Amino acid sequence: MPLVSMRQLLDEAAKGAYGVGAFNVNNMEQIQAIMEAARETKSPAIVQASRGARSYSQDRFLYHLMLAATELYPEIPTVLHLDHGNSVETCKSAIAMGFTSVMMDGSLMPDGKTPSTFEYNVKATREVVETAHSKGITVEGEIGCLGGIEDGHGAGLDGLSHLTDPDQAVEFVGQTGVDALAIAIGTSHGAYKFTSKPTGETLKMDRLLEIHRRLPNTHLVMHGSSSVPKDLQDIINQYGGKLKPTWGVPIEEIQLGIKNGVRKINVDTDNRLAITGAIRKVFAEKPEEFDPRSYLKPARDAMKKVVALRMTQFGQAGHAGDYAPISLEEMAKRYQRHLTA
Ligand SMILES: [Zn+2]
Repeated sequence: MPLVSMRQLLDEAAKGAYGVGAFNVNNMEQIQAIMEAARETKSPAIVQASRGARSYSQDRFLYHLMLAATELYPEIPTVLHLDHGNSVETCKSAIAMGFTSVMMDGSLMPDGKTPSTFEYNVKATREVVETAHSKGITVEGEIGCLGGIEDGHGAGLDGLSHLTDPDQAVEFVGQTGVDALAIAIGTSHGAYKFTSKPTGETLKMDRLLEIHRRLPNTHLVMHGSSSVPKDLQDIINQYGGKLKPTWGVPIEEIQLGIKNGVRKINVDTDNRLAITGAIRKVFAEKPEEFDPRSYLKPARDAMKKVVALRMTQFGQAGHAGDYAPISLEEMAKRYQRHLTA
């Protein structure tokens, strides 16, 4: 089947009360890892690329790898999503290339670093929604600012300085018409999210519950939601790495989120850790190897294992065959009807 809209996947996830992991990619092996995990667990798949990934892969390589994924895994409903679009132009270029979903992150200015105003965020996001929905493409917005840096994107704030205000979230969704909303509840991008296991003081799940209570029909998105498991950190450090002790978002907190409106969960760091640990292990144990496949294959397998586990934990496993894809043309018509209704 062709790439499908993210709106359809998230609507189905809401019906089935499960979450869908969104995994970042830069190259072929990462795409293969996600698609194999999706096949093994019979899961729908969201594959996402940041601006950094688009530049690393020259964009077209990535897009054509995704077309290969849809040919080779026709039974998996698959979305190609732009992660953290920094401007209307970036989102439009992704739509022109064939992405079926875009994130307009207007919580920051186009430099991707400076927190913006609410008015700017509404205006930029609204503009992307108009263009995207006319083509049946999904839009994710963000209100409040996440902590940390993701592929050069992010204000480098700590996770708690710009939490999402529930009143603003309601206003933002009403004024923009976004399909999904990323909220800031204390999570950060990168490996160093928390300096100890998060508590209600550092990971504000109560804020998420309040936003869901006010916006029961909006698909919520948790960014920076790798769990940064200790076993993956240990493999890296056992084979010469130098990661400092760190904590991510516990799976049980994500599962609590999924019970309360979270439909998309962004995971990147866990896969990076799995890949790096597997490569370090081969380098340490078989220093005579020099065929890249000797370490890329275990790296791909290690990522596949993490993705399959997350797909099971988020509840999307078993749901790939629940529904037939809705074409983007039909999605565009539905948005049109909704606007004129
Ligand atoms: Zn993010």
